[in-house]
Amino acid sequence: MRGNNQHPIQSPTQSTDASKPLLQSAEALVDTHCHLTLEQLGEDPDRYWARAQRAGVVQAIVIGIDAKTSADAVSYVESREGLFAAVGIHPNEAGTASEGDFSAIRELAQHPKVVAIGESGLDTFWDRSTAEDQEYWLARHVELAIEIDLPLVLHIRGAYPRAAELLKDSAERGLRGVVHCFAGTGEEVLPFVEWGWPVSFSGILTYGKADNVRDGAINTPLEQCLVETDSPWLTPAGRRGEVNEPAFVVHVAKRLAKVKGVSLEEVARVTTANARRVFGL
Ligand SMILES: [Zn+2]
Repeated sequence: MRGNNQHPIQSPTQSTDASKPLLQSAEALVDTHCHLTLEQLGEDPDRYWARAQRAGVVQAIVIGIDAKTSADAVSYVESREGLFAAVGIHPNEAGTASEGDFSAIRELAQHPKVVAIGESGLDTFWDRSTAEDQEYWLARHVELAIEIDLPLVLHIRGAYPRAAELLKDSAERGLRGVVHCFAGTGEEVLPFVEWGWPVSFSGILTYGKADNVRDGAINTPLEQCLVETDSPWLTPAGRRGEVNEPAFVVHVAKRLAKVKGVSLEEVARVTTANARRVFGL
């Protein structure tokens, strides 16, 4: 996800010196998608990473949305244990992306701490870039991910059937996709589940109106589930009004446990193993 205004259902405005104590997980969790170097979190990423570690987050993937923020993510994680980066051009940035930007992404992807390409994908909710541009850059990211054998983190919003149609051949050619921040329906998740791709759940899973996303979680075997915050956006229910941060992935894991009818410990154990397997952490 990208941009403060991208999710009208959630617009965090306050800082996180919050009021409430951090919820802690007894087990290790991995935040598979956070924008630790962007916006509010980027003002003091070390503080947020320290808070995350105190809450039981042992590893996290810091993700870029364009060439510059991808480079920022790589240089931030470079010397920090437990942190990894993903590099790519977000669909909302597809309209302004250049060949030079993509060359920079390709070069960054060689870095040993880069564990995925992305986020790339399709987003019909915002009209900051055309479908044509989004599909062009998605195809380029797909080729790069296959070529260098890294997973591709997919941002899909309002376009799951189209994404499934576009990605089917690539899935057969060995593309390892990760459906980040799933926000579709129980039916829309099925093609990706069938391809064996992991599906990542964010704070949306905790929202009152998000039964469709919970249906998606029901239809995704726990062995294919990942958890993430997509921070600083999409603050989980229970922390509303605060800036989202990696520590809050515990809230997502708790809700996933409830949806799956298993313990938080089980969700932590399985999703952490999944994240380590998928991204080679
Ligand atoms: Zn994102």
